[in-house]
Amino acid sequence: MSALVAVVGAGPSGLVLANILHDAGVPTVVFERASRAHVEHRARAGLIEYRTVQTLRAHGLADGLLRSGTTHDSCEFRFAGERFTLDYGRFTGERVHYVYPQQFLVRDLIDRLLRNGGKILFDTPVTAISELGSGQPVVGFTDETGTERALPATFVAGCDGSLGVCRRMAPGVEQRTVTHDYRAGLLAVLSATPPITTDMVYALHRDGCAIHALRTPETSRFYLQADPGDDLTAWDDERIWAELRRRFAVAEGPLPGPGRIIEKNLFTMRSAVTEELRYGGMFLVGDAAHTITPFGGKGMNLAIADAADLARAVLLAMRTGDDRGLAGYSAEVNRRVWATQEFSHSMIDLLCATAGGDPEFHYRLQVARLKKWHSSSANAAGFASEYAG
Ligand SMILES: Cc1cc2nc3c(=O)[nH]c(=O)nc-3n(C[C@H](O)[C@H](O)[C@H](O)COP(=O)(O)OP(=O)(O)OC[C@H]3O[C@@H](n4cnc5c(N)ncnc54)[C@H](O)[C@@H]3O)c2cc1C
Repeated sequence: MSALVAVVGAGPSGLVLANILHDAGVPTVVFERASRAHVEHRARAGLIEYRTVQTLRAHGLADGLLRSGTTHDSCEFRFAGERFTLDYGRFTGERVHYVYPQQFLVRDLIDRLLRNGGKILFDTPVTAISELGSGQPVVGFTDETGTERALPATFVAGCDGSLGVCRRMAPGVEQRTVTHDYRAGLLAVLSATPPITTDMVYALHRDGCAIHALRTPETSRFYLQADPGDDLTAWDDERIWAELRRRFAVAEGPLPGPGRIIEKNLFTMRSAVTEELRYGGMFLVGDAAHTITPFGGKGMNLAIADAADLARAVLLAMRTGDDRGLAGYSAEVNRRVWATQEFSHSMIDLLCATAGGDPEFHYRLQVARLKKWHSSSANAAGFASEYAG
């Protein structure tokens, strides 16, 4: 087996990169440790920015989402018993979001790549990347028979997430990473219940925020701010629904559930930006390069933008020998990532209860900011532009 570009991970970033390179005639092989069924059913993100759709469309990768996704241009805020809708599409020249579950996009991208003769090795974990300084990195992997094998490549794209092997193999990567721990937990819930409204809903509450995110007509995603030390066992289904209803409560307005909870995960909110993404012939992409909280729904969008940038740089280098795109990849990604981190951070400041300082003072500031957005278009416009992306 020979390949020029080895892509580690069949998530959104790896699959976008592999599709673009394969279409351009670059021999590419994708390694994925999980099964095809697993990655095609792993529910995560669902909010796709307009500019992400444009990127996918430009590469012929948006057919499924344009056919079956739904567009959204407004979101709702709830606070102190009140609610209002912010029509961000009005401020952004209709730069609308698409709602299309991540697992559907992954399924489409896998299907397209395989149909076009591309190569994805499922159930094939990469175990090491070596010879990084040699000009021809080597991918070590365990094949389907359990045999350890090695594949030399011209480039390796580390698209294997924040805990993946590519980050671990990048020398000094943690020293080149700036992190922030929000000292808050977040409970992510996927339920077999229809959306409570046609909008994303962000609810401010003294005990921590709650978020309602759109997915499909039959399923919804919710987030609940939790204590950083919380244990998942403390969050039984009954408590989750009671807490969601309490935090979304307004004088008049639909409330969630109850219904079947498909999955729930508790994690500590953390952000990370890796300043250097090139390690010889290996590049870090998407979640392997940066971590962002779910506030604002930006993670998958950043991952796809990275993949498109790297594809452009690799093609330039392969076709013309011009290395400038590869040399500038880290800076290009990080310009976008820092701008997005700043937005996500401001969403957290707007919505999350804080343990520091006087919590009541912080809460009153949050209410004052939301009231400004409600009453003044000028104040709402800045949020609208960054939210739409
Ligand atoms: C609950 C939840 C909700 C989210 N909601 C949103 C949202 O609303 N909007 C948004 O934009 N983002 C959201 N995100 C973030 C988004 O899902 C990620 O940013 C996105 O998946 C990143 O894509 P990726 O391709 O970089 O990595 P991943 O999707 O993590 O893909 C990495 C792939 O690499 C594979 N892999 C790992 N190790 C190896 C190995 N050793 N060998 C081979 N393969 C390997 C994994 O199995 C996986 O398939 C959410 C995330 C979660 C967890």
